[in-house]
Amino acid sequence: MNNIINAQTKVEMQPKINLLGLSKNELSLSLNRLGVEKKELSMRVQQLFSWIHVHGKKSFDEMTNLSKEFRDQLSNSFSIYRPQTIDKKISKDGTRKYLFKSENFGEFETVFIPEDDRGTLCISSQIGCTLNCSFCYTGTQKLVRNLETYEIVGQITAVKDDLSDWVLKKNNSSKRAISNVVVMGMGEPLYNFENIKKSLNIIMNNEGLSISRKKITLSTSGVVPNIHRVSSEIGCLLAISLHGTTDEIRDKLVPINKKWNIQELITTLKNYPNLSNSERITFEYVMLRDVNDSLDDAKRLVKLIKNIPAKINLIPFNPWPGSKYQTSEPATVEVFSNFIKKAGYSSPVRRPRGVDIMAACGQLKSNSVKIKSSQNKNI
Ligand code: SAH
Ligand code: SF4
Repeated sequence: MNNIINAQTKVEMQPKINLLGLSKNELSLSLNRLGVEKKELSMRVQQLFSWIHVHGKKSFDEMTNLSKEFRDQLSNSFSIYRPQTIDKKISKDGTRKYLFKSENFGEFETVFIPEDDRGTLCISSQIGCTLNCSFCYTGTQKLVRNLETYEIVGQITAVKDDLSDWVLKKNNSSKRAISNVVVMGMGEPLYNFENIKKSLNIIMNNEGLSISRKKITLSTSGVVPNIHRVSSEIGCLLAISLHGTTDEIRDKLVPINKKWNIQELITTLKNYPNLSNSERITFEYVMLRDVNDSLDDAKRLVKLIKNIPAKINLIPFNPWPGSKYQTSEPATVEVFSNFIKKAGYSSPVRRPRGVDIMAACGQLKSNSVKIKSSQNKNI
């Protein structure tokens, strides 16, 4: 009798695997370990993947084409727990900012930006950041940890719950609230490469969320050794936080420049695989008054990116408590933008969204602090 109780206690103590973060292959392996026979595996994987990522079911009991016995077995070993919303703010422009708490420890933010022709979800890759770009609020929060795959996918799942954005019919996809995803929230995605890669591959899967690779953009501050892997291992679009046109300026704004300078960054981008006019690199350039917004900067910028299929996204600086920069004058931004346009590049000025709720670029931060000493860098 004692043995039985011990065995049961042991089973209960096993942490449940969160299925939100499993690729189809991993799901297959997990179901196999649970005792699902080989000949049934692919059908079961299909059913579960669809219940989870197409229908957004929150409990195994809702998966009506699975037997009660199988559903019980699933809920004993697995969870489909989403990050819990502990705060939600809605801007007067419709932007929504979510503060999530994980089943693991720590809190992180996600932003939904509705527009006429699309709905973009800005997801986080880390809690805090190891880098400290001098104009970014997230950079003032030390890295707490990398987000796990189920927490990265879970940001989309949880926001879809909130927006009632689960499709009833699979071919209804054009009406989805979330059509695009940008990895531009808290953290440096290329320092959490494996989890970001796995998560994006899950959300691109056409039997699941089915978000096309061309509707996903990953932004990096310039982790040079991992940049080519965005194309070869993920296939989504790439954005580079350039922000400075000389090493002297960029060292101050984006300190990772001291590790991989402008020359190394640009050389890597010139050799970036599969570049074409339909798959251009986006260069992000924050406009900081009297710091990087002169006509000389614009001239150097055009020279630097010569021969790279690119567009330049000019971002008016979004202030935060204690920030030392000011947003460039609109007239300065116009002169800068016009010069770039004349050189043949598209140069849209990013309209700040959700500033009243601190949801715009570089304004995300949570109160979490690190509880372990390991730094979690993946390279
Ligand atoms: N860590 C990644 C992605 C997150 S930030 C990266 O640095 O690329 C998304 C974009 O917002 C980056 O280009 C970043 O440099 C920019 N950004 C950060 N703080 C900002 C601020 N206060 N105002 C405007 N843009 C900012
Ligand atoms: Fe980190 Fe990106 Fe902010 Fe730099 S801009 S501190 S890399 S989140």
